Amino acid sequence: RPARDPILYLDGISVTFDGFKALNALSLLLEPGEMRAIIGPNGAGKTTMMDVITGKTRPQKGTARFKGNLDLTRHDEATIARAGIGRKFQKPTVFENHTVFDNLVLAIAGPRDVFSTLFRSIKPRQIERIDAVLETVRLTAARDRPAGDLSHGQKQWLEIGMLLVQEPELLLVDEPVAGMTDLETEATADLLREINKTRSVMVVEHDMTFVRALNVKVTVLHEGSVLAEGSLDQVQSNERVIEVYLGR
Ligand code: ADP
Repeated sequence: RPARDPILYLDGISVTFDGFKALNALSLLLEPGEMRAIIGPNGAGKTTMMDVITGKTRPQKGTARFKGNLDLTRHDEATIARAGIGRKFQKPTVFENHTVFDNLVLAIAGPRDVFSTLFRSIKPRQIERIDAVLETVRLTAARDRPAGDLSHGQKQWLEIGMLLVQEPELLLVDEPVAGMTDLETEATADLLREINKTRSVMVVEHDMTFVRALNVKVTVLHEGSVLAEGSLDQVQSNERVIEVYLGR
């Protein structure tokens, strides 16, 4: 048994939809504190993999564990989220009519009744946590503005902040820079690197400029399993990867 369990351990995961193998004996290991970029063509199985990790989809075969002991194939999404896996979906879903600050208050409280949550007093410790997160996601100046006023990129950051206030140990992020300006894309790479100082991160992304800026190990998925793993330069010069991206 290794000294430290991987934060995420996937081994031989298969998911079949009506006879079609969305994941085919997928194996992947994430070390504690690691940030990993996941790339791969459309239909490679990236979303299905995230669905397995968060308990949304049950694999027919394989092992999926969080921190060595939580069996991700046997718990529901709420339990897995509470255990420390946060997931950011591609489209931001913030409360547009509430301020940035109140969005973070609601995110700490979880999906309860919006009004009772906002009118209850917030603990000073929670306000501190929210202000720290606002700094991380670069929204301190927008603290008291309605979330609806934010740019698309800022809404993505707010949503990342809404996950951070829940203090996940592993953050899953799906295409964070889709639709962002170049400046926002650069800032998002910095932001994720900063988040990665205290948590593990797995980020699915198509934008190779962004993946290069992250400067982390890359896993290439293809037809439901891992095609290649290594630095971006290594996988981009891999013959099989070139074939999958260009050879059709
Ligand atoms: P990616 O995120 O890499 O684009 P997905 O995980 O979304 O890939 O999809 C992998 C394959 O599984 C695709 O061919 C997709 O059509 C199929 N698939 C995904 N979800 C379902 C589902 N709920 N029912 C049937 N097929 C699905």
